[in-house]
Amino acid sequence: MPQGSEDHVESTCAFCQGSGEASGGQCKACGGDGSVLVTSPPTKCSFCRGTGKVGAIRCGRCTGTGWIRVLRQMEAQTEWIDER
Ligand SMILES: [Zn+2]
Ligand SMILES: [Zn+2]
Repeated sequence: MPQGSEDHVESTCAFCQGSGEASGGQCKACGGDGSVLVTSPPTKCSFCRGTGKVGAIRCGRCTGTGWIRVLRQMEAQTEWIDER
């Protein structure tokens, strides 16, 4: 599994702040991993300002990770989101 390579970097999941848990259950943003793999350098989601949340709900833009261009999540519905 690529980790810490020059193109990708492991970043803390913003939604659970690395705990892997949210709302008493497994974090849906990172699948309980606590981290997500994003392209390097990591770019914060401007929609939620890197918090992974909009109000009390998961940010739809970054799927709650707080980062854009997420390469790997445990959740199957990983999407490529490019704001540029
Ligand atoms: Zn998480
Ligand atoms: Zn976001």
